[in-house]
Amino acid sequence: VATLGVMGGGQLGRMFVHAAQRMGFFTAVLDPDPQSPAGRVSHHHVQTAYDDATGLAHLSQLCDAITTEFENVPALSLQTLAAQRPVAPGAQAVAVAQNRIEEKSHFVASGVLCAPYAVIENAEHLATLDTALLPGILKTARMGYDGKGQVRVANAAELAAAWEDLKRVPCVLEKMLPLKAECSVLLARGWDGQIVAYPAQRNVHVDGILAVTHAYVGNLPAALAARALAAAQSIARQIDYVGVLCVEFFVVDDGSPEGDLIVNEIAPRPHNSGHYTMDACSHSQFDLQVYSLAGLALPELRQHSPAIMLNLLGDVWQDAAGKPRTPDWQAVLALPGTHLHLYGKLAARPGRKMGHLNITAGDIPSLLATTRQVAELLGLPGLEQP
Ligand code: ATP
Ligand code: MG
Ligand code: MG
Repeated sequence: VATLGVMGGGQLGRMFVHAAQRMGFFTAVLDPDPQSPAGRVSHHHVQTAYDDATGLAHLSQLCDAITTEFENVPALSLQTLAAQRPVAPGAQAVAVAQNRIEEKSHFVASGVLCAPYAVIENAEHLATLDTALLPGILKTARMGYDGKGQVRVANAAELAAAWEDLKRVPCVLEKMLPLKAECSVLLARGWDGQIVAYPAQRNVHVDGILAVTHAYVGNLPAALAARALAAAQSIARQIDYVGVLCVEFFVVDDGSPEGDLIVNEIAPRPHNSGHYTMDACSHSQFDLQVYSLAGLALPELRQHSPAIMLNLLGDVWQDAAGKPRTPDWQAVLALPGTHLHLYGKLAARPGRKMGHLNITAGDIPSLLATTRQVAELLGLPGLEQP
């Protein structure tokens, strides 16, 4: 019996640990937080910083192979681990995903279109900026997630002020695109280069955070979904990626009925938009993470039910006046096809990802009907958008 390790102890790590343990693997988590969601359910929990030499040595001693559950794990730590054990995804792929500047160069190399952008690293870059990029979104090159570390700017003055606010760190300015929709593709690539993928899912964001994922036939125009799949495969091959990869896309309103496909960013790990696979597919994205890490042949994927995923942020644990409340799970779970996933986080804060609900059904009309009922019961946003 082998032990699989994961860098990071958040909810993605926890769901990886569950999938690995179900298949009989032992697990080890490295996360400094003694209360981390994954650390608390793992066989081993190394409680050191992500770049601590002793912690890394301990983790590689415990494990036969190691993966990651968040993109901001120091690439150098993955390199250190890789000297001892197989590590997937590799340090180089994670480094690309960690830095929007390198990420965008990689998209160009993969032959996939991204939003028009400029790199802003110094005052001169600001002064010589192509104003056709405005209005735009200024994003820090590193460490942003859930819409944090980005500011919408309408003109040059706002841009200069925003860059000051972001402490003059390296940034990219992206042109603000008129979005028709957003979607993502999740795939797994094995050590031998074999790729399996789920069909593209459509995502609705509220305040920069994923709120709803629609995963069923007809959620996107078929030709667009096929292009997203091909683009995601090209991006994975181009960096010789191993493991589970998520590629996020914008569907831009270019006047055509379908819209145009533009890549947004990649996540070198399972992704929130793939959580529906846990209840709607033959194998979940976390199963694929286990398979690819352990070097097992990747399974053929089949989605057996249409599905919608609703994110449960800390806000659900508050009433309209901001008072703490317990959501009415009884009522939610009494509805057909509802699957509740809670991450075991000890404190609910607004905007914090506490869990998700997967809804499955035999047909799309029943799926949408149940979803509306759940959203109403819990006061969840994001369904009014098509
Ligand atoms: P994540 O948690 O997915 O890593 P993030 O902080 O990296 O989020 P992005 O994916 O860059 O943020 O942007 C968050 C959301 O903001 C997007 O899903 C989209 O709704 C909107 N957005 C970002 N860039 C643009 C753009 N260039 N034009 C229009 N909308 C955008
Ligand atoms: Mg991101
Ligand atoms: Mg994103």
